[in-house]
Amino acid sequence: MNNLASVAGTRALLNSYGFRYRKSLGQNFLVDAGIIQKIVDTVEPAPMDVVIEIGPGLGTLTRQIARRVRMLLAVEIDPRLLPILADTLSGYNHIEIIQGDALEIDFDHLVAAKTASEFGQEGKPYKLVANLPYYITSPLLTRLVLERFNMSMMVIMVQQEVAARLTAAPGNKSYGSLSVLIQYFTEPELVFQVPRTAFHPSPGVDSAVVQLRVRPEPAVSVLDEALFFKVVRASFARRRKNILNALSGAMGGISKEKWRIILEKAGIDPGRRGETFSLTEFATVADMIKVL
Ligand code: SAM
Repeated sequence: MNNLASVAGTRALLNSYGFRYRKSLGQNFLVDAGIIQKIVDTVEPAPMDVVIEIGPGLGTLTRQIARRVRMLLAVEIDPRLLPILADTLSGYNHIEIIQGDALEIDFDHLVAAKTASEFGQEGKPYKLVANLPYYITSPLLTRLVLERFNMSMMVIMVQQEVAARLTAAPGNKSYGSLSVLIQYFTEPELVFQVPRTAFHPSPGVDSAVVQLRVRPEPAVSVLDEALFFKVVRASFARRRKNILNALSGAMGGISKEKWRIILEKAGIDPGRRGETFSLTEFATVADMIKVL
C-alpha cells in the first residue's frame, strides 16, 4: 500500500482508479501525516471505543483511528469510493463501511445494529470523527446535537470561521445561535488550526479541528427547550437591534410592553444586544415567558 498521507500517494491512488473528485461533496483528502496523527490523538482513542467516521474518503484517517479502537463504522455518501476503501482498508476486519448520507442516518440505531451481535456494547456512548464537507457542516452539527445521539465526543474538522462560531463567547463577533446551540449541548474546544496545504486538492480556506465533549446534561436547565431556542434565534435575527426590539420584532404573540416586563423581571437591561447574552441569561428570559 502506498503512503496515502502524501500528495504523490493520494494522486497515484486516485489515478489508478480513474477517480475524479467531486467538489460538491467537499472531496479534499488529507495528505499530511502530522495533522492526521493530531486528529487521532484528539479523539483520545481507547481499545474498547466504538467510533463513527463521517466521510472516510480514501480511508487515510480511518486506518489510523481503527488501529487504536474496538470498532470503526464509516459512513460515506459516494459509492465510487467504496472499491477504493475496500482496497485501502483491506485487512481491517473491525472497520465497516456504510454507504449513506450522514444527514439521514440514525447513528444510535447503526451502532446498536452493528455492535449487538459482536460484543455487549449496549448503551455505551460512542465517538464521532469527521473531516466535514463544508456544505453540510451546520445542518449536520445541528442534527447531531438536537437528536441527542448517545455520543460522548465529536472531533470535527471545519472551516476556521465555523470553528470560531462554535467556540465564541458572548460579545465576540462570531457568537451567534450556532454557538449557543453547540455550547448548550457540548463543551467545544478549538484544538488546532489546519492549513489548506494539508489537503489534496487544496480547498480555498483554512480549517481547524474542534473537539466537542458532549455534556451529560445541557449547560443550563430550562423549562421549555423549544422556547429557549426560539428566544435565542429571535435574539440573533436582528443583531444590530437591542434585545427589546429584536424579541418584539421576531417573536410574535407577545407585545413590546410585555417583553419589557419579562426583561425587567429577568433583571436584564432591554437596551443590551442579544449577542452579549450568556446561555444563563437566554435561559432566564425563556423561563420568564413561561411563568409570567
Ligand atoms: N476523511 C477523508 C480525509 O480526511 O481525507 C475525506 C474527507 S473529505 C473533506 C469529505 C468526505 O465526506 C468525502 O469522502 C465525501 O464523499 C464525504 N461526504 C460528503 N457528503 C457526505 C454526506 N452527506 N454523508 C457522508 N459522507 C459525505
